[in-house]
Amino acid sequence: MKIIHTDALVLGGGLAGLRTAIGMKKRGHEVISLSLVPPKRSHSSAAQGGMQASLANSVKGIGDNEDLHFVDTIKGSDWGADQQVVRMFVDTAPKAVRELAAWGVPWNRIEKGDQQSVIDGKKVILTEPENAHGLITARNFGGTQKWRTCYVADGTGHSMLYTMSNQAIANDIPVHERMEALSLIHDGKQCFGAIARNLISGELVVYIAKVTCIATGGFGRIYRSSTNAVINEGIGAALALETGIASLGNMEAVQFHPTAIFPAGILVTEGCRGDGGLLLDVNLHRFMADYEPEKKELASRDVVSRWMETHIAKGYGVKSRFGEHLWLDIRLLGEHHINTKLREVKEICQYFLGIDPVKDLIPVRPAQHYSMGGVRTNHKGQSPSLLGLYSCGEAACWDMHGFNRLGGNSVAETVVAGMIVGEYMADFLDSNACDINISTALITDFYEKEKNKLAAFYQESNTENPFEIMSEMQNIMTKNVAIFRNKTKLVEAIEQLKALRIRAKNIRVHSNAKGTNPELVAAYRVQKMLKLSLCTTYGALQREESRGAHSREDFPLRDDKRWLNRTLATWPCEQDELPTLQYEPINIKAMEMPPSWRGYGAKDRIDHPDTAIRLEEVEKIKKENNICKDSISKGIAAKDIEAQDKEILQTKLMPYKHLLPEKLRGKNARLSDEQ
Ligand SMILES: Cc1cc2nc3c(=O)[nH]c(=O)nc-3n(C[C@H](O)[C@H](O)[C@H](O)COP(=O)(O)OP(=O)(O)OC[C@H]3O[C@@H](n4cnc5c(N)ncnc54)[C@H](O)[C@@H]3O)c2cc1C
Repeated sequence: MKIIHTDALVLGGGLAGLRTAIGMKKRGHEVISLSLVPPKRSHSSAAQGGMQASLANSVKGIGDNEDLHFVDTIKGSDWGADQQVVRMFVDTAPKAVRELAAWGVPWNRIEKGDQQSVIDGKKVILTEPENAHGLITARNFGGTQKWRTCYVADGTGHSMLYTMSNQAIANDIPVHERMEALSLIHDGKQCFGAIARNLISGELVVYIAKVTCIATGGFGRIYRSSTNAVINEGIGAALALETGIASLGNMEAVQFHPTAIFPAGILVTEGCRGDGGLLLDVNLHRFMADYEPEKKELASRDVVSRWMETHIAKGYGVKSRFGEHLWLDIRLLGEHHINTKLREVKEICQYFLGIDPVKDLIPVRPAQHYSMGGVRTNHKGQSPSLLGLYSCGEAACWDMHGFNRLGGNSVAETVVAGMIVGEYMADFLDSNACDINISTALITDFYEKEKNKLAAFYQESNTENPFEIMSEMQNIMTKNVAIFRNKTKLVEAIEQLKALRIRAKNIRVHSNAKGTNPELVAAYRVQKMLKLSLCTTYGALQREESRGAHSREDFPLRDDKRWLNRTLATWPCEQDELPTLQYEPINIKAMEMPPSWRGYGAKDRIDHPDTAIRLEEVEKIKKENNICKDSISKGIAAKDIEAQDKEILQTKLMPYKHLLPEKLRGKNARLSDEQ
């Protein structure tokens, strides 16, 4: 039995995992990261559009700040997010962009003077100020009030991940690639590392760690039609679930992206619409203006995806031999713009559709895209129920996205959460809590369990094919648990998934290759993915309301009275047919921004009685906040007073700074500070 000891074990070599590892290493702790693929091939590299941070450099970002980013994110989440976590996030995002710039990310920069742009279908000239020349620019993305999405053409994730990975190398952090974690070692109270399988040699390896972080990305591949990479199967989240103790949050909160190319499902970035691209129907009519007169194509993703499907259902879809779709038109952006700022989009269209988006319309239809749900953590990224277990990035439910995450907020989350969670994990390593004393019997027990599970796939009496079960599961999820959900579809899906789980216990692996063995890999992964599918489906069935991306045809209203809470799923016993669901309340009385209308999408909702009380309280606190006005007589500049006032007011409404690691509490400087 091969045993490797380390201070910290990070499962995942994407943006979140690597940034967390760097934080701990810089604090003097030994870290090992595991990855299914070479880290630079992690899914983060697929992010095209950009990273949100309120730098306020460019002309369309002037006036932007943490407050506006906060408001956009809360509205986007349909009030499902943890507002303190969102505050921590928006405060740290500008620092994250600047740190990445210092590490070498080649962010697109502002060019002073007149620049041509497209807004609302019309060509306009934007004049960038001289003093902003050379600073990091931003594009329109995520339906935000200000343009705040920093980007590197449409290869943002690629640039960020290469830079991050190079930093990990520079910090001497080993990434054991093609090493897959199969289970977490724990004693029911504390996590001590993981059992992993070497995907090349087939060897099982024990990693003993004082602290473990799950940063394994999303679980999009439980769906057939997904923009996610084939490695995004959610195995990390399943490991937490299989402890029976750690919980998964809001697994029913799954985002569908409006513009996956049809039928392949490969994403073309929201930057296309942000930069001025339009959605058209079979008659080349710009239909989004009919449904969302204000935000049009730039309403949040859940809203645009729903309108697209509704419009197709009304008979306005374009028929093709693969099914119906709509059009994305970026021709009006012009060849130069597409060739420089959307060149990956151009290549995707050329390689996978054989078309040129400079001249041709792009066929699109919504596809699964992002997992808002994941391993439930507190603001430190720590599992509230299993000591020594942390999680961050798309694998986690931290929870800053609630029921819909905004475009550009995810790669930002990976780095920001990495910065914060890495510090808290290092604090944990500096504390007494991690003086672990783990018995050999416990290690052997977990090791033998995994060995036996793998051996069981070779029983000759077994008959099931893992690939068939995987494909049936993906079809069920895409057909029954997608954009529009209802009781009948969800109950049907649960019965079918339960039946698949029974079949999955009878999987037969024929290939006895010790090392690279896709059949064996599919066999153990599908068993885990079925549990995730059931968490998503059962959570969706129980949640009798429509919130963000979770849309119930039979319960069309957002119901703050009954459902302003977070679903927590655990799987206490392997034999259980369904997860155990509990609900974590979200306290309106502690909210900086009480629930209201998002500014797009449905206006109707069922209010919680606390909403009115809190709204009144918030108004009262705002009125009373004249604290600094008398400082004028002390000769303090008016804009400094205003800033102080704002900070005092924010702290009165919902304090959060104390939740950030001390080194991240500094003020974000902006160009406007100099004026
Ligand atoms: C096509 C596409 C475009 C996107 N564009 C944007 C965008 O423009 N802006 C934005 O904000 N967001 C975007 N997103 C979302 C964003 O890219 C992801 O949410 C984010 O990059 C996830 O990063 P991560 O570090 O959490 O996980 P990942 O980058 O997915 O990394 C997961 C890591 O975990 C490893 N791993 C997985 N399972 C195991 C296991 N069992 N054992 C060991 N290792 C394991 C993998 O090998 C990998 O290294 C996009 C997503 C998609 C699908």
